[in-house]
Amino acid sequence: MTDRPVRTRYAPSPTGNPHVGNIRSALFSWAFARARDGQFLLRIEDTDRNRYVEGAVEAILESLRWLGIDWDEGPDVGGPKGPYFQSQRLPLYREAAERLIEAGRAYRCFCTPERLDALRASQAAAKQPPGYDRRCRGILPEEAAARAKDEPFVVRFAMVLEGSTVLEDVIRGQVVFENALQDDFVVLKSDGYPTYHLAVVVDDTAMEVSHCIRGDEWISSAPKHIQLYEALGWQQPTWAHLPLILGPDHKKLSKRSGDTALLDYRDRGYLPEAMVNFLAFLGWSLDDHTTILGVEDLKRHFDLSRVVPNPAVFDIERLNFLNGHYIRAMDGERWVQLVAEWADRGLPASVPRPLDERVIRAAAPLLRERVTVLGEVAGLVEFLFTYDAPAYDTALLVERIGDAAVAVRVLDEALVRLDAIPEGEWSTPAVEAALRGLEEPLGMKLRKFIPVLYVAVMGRPTGIPLFDSIGILGRERTLARLRAARARLG
Ligand code: GLU
Repeated sequence: MTDRPVRTRYAPSPTGNPHVGNIRSALFSWAFARARDGQFLLRIEDTDRNRYVEGAVEAILESLRWLGIDWDEGPDVGGPKGPYFQSQRLPLYREAAERLIEAGRAYRCFCTPERLDALRASQAAAKQPPGYDRRCRGILPEEAAARAKDEPFVVRFAMVLEGSTVLEDVIRGQVVFENALQDDFVVLKSDGYPTYHLAVVVDDTAMEVSHCIRGDEWISSAPKHIQLYEALGWQQPTWAHLPLILGPDHKKLSKRSGDTALLDYRDRGYLPEAMVNFLAFLGWSLDDHTTILGVEDLKRHFDLSRVVPNPAVFDIERLNFLNGHYIRAMDGERWVQLVAEWADRGLPASVPRPLDERVIRAAAPLLRERVTVLGEVAGLVEFLFTYDAPAYDTALLVERIGDAAVAVRVLDEALVRLDAIPEGEWSTPAVEAALRGLEEPLGMKLRKFIPVLYVAVMGRPTGIPLFDSIGILGRERTLARLRAARARLG
């Protein structure tokens, strides 16, 4: 099976904005193809017309592009095995269904939705597993062909009834499915559209996919697919079912535990390299110690042999750590550009644009250590772009220090010391010396009283380093803010 040229695919259904777990499948398929000098295909599985969501295809392409996942063939770039939308490949599925019918491996089923509902209800009442009772499997082919002229029907696959179907999975090993438990599933719906099961087998074959790498949720469909391959006389791909992704509570990943659209992470200010690094380790590892891995290394070294079958845990703290790591590791100029972009995006419309580039450049290095996601940037720099401090609650001035009278003293002393610095000598070191000089007259440590000054200057009790911030803010605005805070306390 593995002697074929490597061709893998990502085959999403356009049912919405792809979630992180789903994109992990794309990443692994892609990295595997790249590591083997193979090809990676993108195929849109849009045969379920009820679940089609407008804009989903664009979101899929955008998600992949954001992570730097490129495809050799696909809906936008075309390729020799196209079209890459299943809805444009209907004749191929119909042909395969016909072949199956002729070979006696599929049959037309005329059961009405009402009958199937009643069947399901009686099975549920009798505590039997749901499934089609194969009533139409016995209809003679000629009779079925005649009825098909004026009765609606679906085409069902005639599963092998005895024995077992064996999945050879490179990640899971051998998985055995009892045929007696399998259902005669639908391959072609009454509207002429195929189900996923038929379409995936037809297309993976026609597109010469060598490795079917997909999420664990499809493993129960594997016996259907294997039997389809056998019935059609086609070569199976190498199967690889990727491990489940669980939340930190070891329960199925949910929206609350982080399973949201990939692009939401982008919009909250995660970096693509952090996301790639994070997703790569959801079920795979390079070796026993590497935790930081760039996309180039992933492309070079990814292998299915190091994907483990047991579930991976989606730990947002890990992603946060990686994002912070990549923020600190990136080139300084790129960081400045990101700060500019995220400040512009997040600051209120009342702040005049364009933002002063000198201020951005001065603030950027101060932000590096403080920022986990880029969405935090605007809140941290807002005070540098306004004349007054951003709005805050007066109580915040007192909250940390605990006593309004003490807060007043802090502000008074700070005003005296800072006012004594002449305009031409205003600098971070001068500010620092002045404020450290307050420890003695106030009789307390800097870290004790500094929150009062933070609130007065920034409108928040913590933020980017204060001395540098006051250095950037300048004499006039700083003194005005301290006086305003002092006035608030009466
Ligand atoms: N269309 C399926 C999905 O949305 C594809 C599964 C597969 O990779 O075969 O997940």
